[in-house]
Amino acid sequence: MPRLTPLEGWIGARIGLAAGARLTRSALEQYQLDRLHETLAYVREQSPFYRQQLTESGTPASLEEMATLPFTTPDQIREDDRRFLCVSAGEIERVVTLHSSGTTAPPKRLHFTAHDLELTVDFFHHGMGTMVRPGQRVLILMPGELPGSVGDLLAKGLQRLGVTGIIHGLVRDSEETLRRIVEEEIDCLVGLPVQLLGLTRHPAARRLCRKRLTSILVSADYAPLAVKEALSTFWEVPVFDHYGMTEMGLGGAVECAGLCGYHPREADLYLEIVDPLSGEILPDGEPGEVVFTTLTRRGMPLVRYRTGDLARFLAEPCPCGSVLRQLERVRGRMGGVFSLASGGQLSITQLDEALFPLPFLLNYQAILGQRDCREVLSIGIETGSGNSAGFTSQVQDALLALPAIAEAVAAGVLTLDTDGTGCSAPSPTIKRAIIDTRQGSGP
Ligand SMILES: [Zn+2]
Repeated sequence: MPRLTPLEGWIGARIGLAAGARLTRSALEQYQLDRLHETLAYVREQSPFYRQQLTESGTPASLEEMATLPFTTPDQIREDDRRFLCVSAGEIERVVTLHSSGTTAPPKRLHFTAHDLELTVDFFHHGMGTMVRPGQRVLILMPGELPGSVGDLLAKGLQRLGVTGIIHGLVRDSEETLRRIVEEEIDCLVGLPVQLLGLTRHPAARRLCRKRLTSILVSADYAPLAVKEALSTFWEVPVFDHYGMTEMGLGGAVECAGLCGYHPREADLYLEIVDPLSGEILPDGEPGEVVFTTLTRRGMPLVRYRTGDLARFLAEPCPCGSVLRQLERVRGRMGGVFSLASGGQLSITQLDEALFPLPFLLNYQAILGQRDCREVLSIGIETGSGNSAGFTSQVQDALLALPAIAEAVAAGVLTLDTDGTGCSAPSPTIKRAIIDTRQGSGP
C-alpha cells in the first residue's frame, strides 16, 4: 500500500484536529462550509465585484447548495481585476500578470497578500514531503528570481522540510542543466513536463548515472502520459504530478505515492466538477470542468472560478488510504477539441499521446489550417539533433495511427504537412494547444 499523503495530517492540523486524531470527511466539510461562509461575508463587504455579483444570491446552507452561487469567469478578472480586491493596494505583496497565448485579450492580473503567499509556502512544505526527505536537494527548473514567484515559494517550502531547493529557472541549455544535476548532487527535479523531456532526451543525459535521482515532479502544464512514462523509464524514478494555476495561489493539488491522481489542498480550496454547458455540479466519476472557491485567501478571493480545465473526481478511495478527494489527471482544456471537416475530432491531448512516444521528439507545434479548400494539419517538430528532415515519415505514421486523422486523410479532406511549414517551437511557458487558423475560427 502506498504511503498516506502527508497532506492529510497537515490538513487535519489546519482544521484544528487534535494531534493524532484521524481526519474525517465530515469534519473537513464542516470546516469548508464555515470558511465558505466567512469568505462570502468577507467578499460581500470588501470586494466591489462580489458585492454586485452576489446581490441576488443567498448564503448556501450546505456545500451542495454551492450551485446557487454564480460562477466567476477569467473574462471578469480581465475586465477589471481591481474590483476583486479585498485589501488596499499597500497590502498586496505580489501581482502576477498572465497573458493568454494567440489572442489579443487583455492580460489577467492576480493579487496576493503576504498571508496568501504564506499559505502556498505551507502547501509546498507539506506536499513536497511526498517525494523528498530531509537532507535532499531539489533543482527547481521554474522561474524563481522574484520574491513570491513559484520557484521562490517552493524553495521556502522545501527549506522548512529540511530540503535544499536550488532555483535554476527554465531550462535554456539542457547540457548545462544536466551538468548542474551532477555538480549540485541533485535528488529531485521540479519542472515543466516538456522541458524535463528535453533534458531526458538530450544525448548528454545518457552519460549521467540514471540512479542519481529519487523523484521528479512535473508542474505548470498538464503532463502527457507519454511524457511521464518517458521520464520514469529513463530515470527509473516515480514521476509525481502537480496541478495548480496562478488563480489557485500557484499551488493546487499534488499526487501521493499512489500516483493515480491529485489530492487538493482542501483546507484552502473547495473544488467542484461542473457540466461545462449547463453548469450543473456533476457526481464523482463524471468528467467536467474544474471550478474552485478559495477558502482562506485575503487579497483577491475567488468564488466558483471556472478554470477551463477538464477532469473528474475519482469515485474510488485512493490506495494511500486518505479521505482527501482525488482529482484524476487533468485531461486538457475546454475549447481544445477541434472538429474536422471529416466529422472527426482532434485535441492536443491526442496529438501529445501519439507523438511524444517518438524517442527523438523534444517538442512540437501543431497548426490546423486550410489550403485549396482542404484542411491542413502542419506539425513542426523539435529534435535533439536540430535536424527534423529525417523524421517526417515517422511523425506521419504516428499521426495516421490516430483514427480521426486516418479517416480524414483517407476521405481526402485533410492533408498532413509534417515538414512543419510555418511552425516554430512553442514557448515553454505557454500552455500546450493546437493553433487553429482556419477561416472563421480566428479570434
Ligand atoms: Zn492518495
